[in-house]
Amino acid sequence: MIIDLRSDTVTRPTPEMMQAIINAEVGDDVYKEDPTTNKLEQKLAAMFGMDTALFFPSGSMANQAAIKLHTQPGEQLIADKWAHVYNFEGGGVSFNSGVSCKLIDGNRGMITAEQVEESINPPDFYHSPLTSLVCLENTTNKGGGACYDFSEIKKIRKVCDKHNLGLHLDGARIWNALVAKNEKAKDYGKVFDTISVCLSKGLGAPMGSVLLGNSEIMQKAMRVRKVLGGGMRQIGFMTAAGIYALDNHVERLAEDHKKAFEIANTLSQQAYIKNVEPSETNIVIFYLAETISEEKFIKNLLKKDIKISTMGQGKLRIVTHLDYTDAMHEKFLQTLTNYKI
Ligand SMILES: *Cc1c(COP(=O)(O)O)cnc(C)c1O
Repeated sequence: MIIDLRSDTVTRPTPEMMQAIINAEVGDDVYKEDPTTNKLEQKLAAMFGMDTALFFPSGSMANQAAIKLHTQPGEQLIADKWAHVYNFEGGGVSFNSGVSCKLIDGNRGMITAEQVEESINPPDFYHSPLTSLVCLENTTNKGGGACYDFSEIKKIRKVCDKHNLGLHLDGARIWNALVAKNEKAKDYGKVFDTISVCLSKGLGAPMGSVLLGNSEIMQKAMRVRKVLGGGMRQIGFMTAAGIYALDNHVERLAEDHKKAFEIANTLSQQAYIKNVEPSETNIVIFYLAETISEEKFIKNLLKKDIKISTMGQGKLRIVTHLDYTDAMHEKFLQTLTNYKI
């Protein structure tokens, strides 16, 4: 029994999801003739109350396409310093869109309307890059699964309206936020111009993300996806898994959150732990006491078939997910409690 807590992307399709994949009706999606993909896209568009949705092989590609749709080369976007679009998409912001990032020193990956407003370059001051887009992340990845207060998002929307900026949501883990905060997808659809959502994280599908937006901004989305190499053929085998995941794996995220909360609670009682960040969803971020070697800790867990990840600067991360069972949870909590320094 290997307990893999490095990420919620390590899940494998359940037997039922596998059945949905095998039974999928497929066609050529580059011709928009894949019925299952069309169904998934319509389902998500309806869910968020947005009129267009497009399937992408990865969340990074969906975000990169959104940035391309919102900006022109030389312009600037605003994001938190920990943003996935800035840190974990291979420099795609500059490579694909020729855009720079104004980074905000936010709180656990979240930024405020006030910080956004302060970071906008005056549009008539031609010496500085033209600010054209704000990217938010919910839940935040490097911020430990933290969730925005929706009222702050609405304030940020107002700032964007006032300064004529686009507003994109990197919603890779939006499902976790919706479940944790009991929020409605349609409320998100109302405030954001574009939203990317992942099917391959907590929902447990093998691959895929969907970019949502209104038809005006999404007009060139097919072309941008094609340029990025993301036009795919009989992709219904994957989007069938996405439909299955939306129907069956959203509500259960509460179980992942409960387990993460219990892990955070157990960790915070251990002498070898310096600090555990508050856990709101399925991610736990913690720091070892100064005298404990990070490398040794990870190695010792590995000897017990437990995998966790390090994010640098003494930051360790645990992510709960669909394949992390009750039995694994019990063993892991025991291991943490009995861990000898
Ligand atoms: C995982 C993730 C993505 C997308 O990652 P891919 O591996 O490209 O699918 C985007 N944003 C955040 C916050 C993520 O955690």
